[in-house]
Amino acid sequence: MLDRMITHSAFLELVDELAGKRRIIGPVARGERFFYEEVERAGALDLAFNYCVYGPRAFLFPPTETLFTFQQIEGRFAAEAVVEDRPTALVGVHPCDINAIRLLDRVFEKDHPDEHYLSRRRNTLIIGLDCPRPCTDGIFCSDMKTNEATEGFDVMLFPLGAVQEVGASGKGGGGDPQAGPSVRADEPPAAPSQYGVVFGTPTGREWLLYSHKSTVPTAADERALEQYHRSKAAAFRRAIKTPSEDLPALLDRSYDSLLWEATARRCYSCGSCNLSCPTCYCFNIYDELDMTLAAGERKREWDGCQLPKFAEVAGPHNFRAKAASRLRHRIYRKAKWVREQTDLPGCVGCARCDRACTAKISSVEIYNQLAEEA
Ligand code: SF4
Ligand code: SF4
Repeated sequence: MLDRMITHSAFLELVDELAGKRRIIGPVARGERFFYEEVERAGALDLAFNYCVYGPRAFLFPPTETLFTFQQIEGRFAAEAVVEDRPTALVGVHPCDINAIRLLDRVFEKDHPDEHYLSRRRNTLIIGLDCPRPCTDGIFCSDMKTNEATEGFDVMLFPLGAVQEVGASGKGGGGDPQAGPSVRADEPPAAPSQYGVVFGTPTGREWLLYSHKSTVPTAADERALEQYHRSKAAAFRRAIKTPSEDLPALLDRSYDSLLWEATARRCYSCGSCNLSCPTCYCFNIYDELDMTLAAGERKREWDGCQLPKFAEVAGPHNFRAKAASRLRHRIYRKAKWVREQTDLPGCVGCARCDRACTAKISSVEIYNQLAEEA
């Protein structure tokens, strides 16, 4: 059921108004590719993007951040927490990335609530943009059931209506946005003339209704949404032979598979798969002292389980010294352990890891080869 309808141009006006109150992060065209970046004006956004090279994780959980500062005063150390609370809006977040943020929310609020992440998250408005068709080849979000988002957003936009030539990349095209499979997956679609809107939170509802720029959906709009969902369901095809809920059992049977060693022979242990993944949340902590050695900062930075020293401990002992054990660990985390601990998918099937891997190691191939072995 739709809550409201809004035209593309009215939506951009709303985002321009929002820019006076929040920093705006959204998809920006850089050559042939798209990146989430901070923009001053809604016109700089390209909502006709296919996918962003990286998800919006870095705006909630930065690659490097200071957790607190400390200094020695009269022989005792005093610390001051650094917590960011800048109001932010993430605009144009696809369902896979919304599901990735849901996982980060669950992880950072569970057991030991992480105020550094949670403060940013509380102050972030998420405006989702649904995908009418696969954004590119190789993705497996429908296998992971993450090509739709039912929560984790403040407002969700469904691209309905005739398309128009808009967007900074100038890649608009004409045609029916619900055409699905007939459109080449690698080509960014054109932005639609209007969006069907579904509210996810009272904050999202208040923001959209406040400006009076949206309209009440008609019966024809509801029919267009039903047609949209039918077309979308037909456009997404399964890539993994094993249903995602059965992947933990498949992995249980595959711990000693020779596939780990055989595949890891190609792995450079570069960590690009971790870096590009919207659901990776491992980090390292270290102190940076100033020249006096009496003051400094405690920092954290992203870490990656594929890096050779990730599991090195005192001794020195490395309990995942071999690339094969690191690769197996990553796949187990993505498809089994994280799901078991959070009840959410540890992988949203965006295939950014596969695209980033110069060794062409593919998660889908691993799952399917393990299924054949089993
Ligand atoms: S990106 Fe590929 S080569 Fe690099 S660590 Fe990951 S699996 Fe290995
Ligand atoms: S493991 Fe790969 S496909 Fe899954 S969420 Fe991370 S980058 Fe995307």
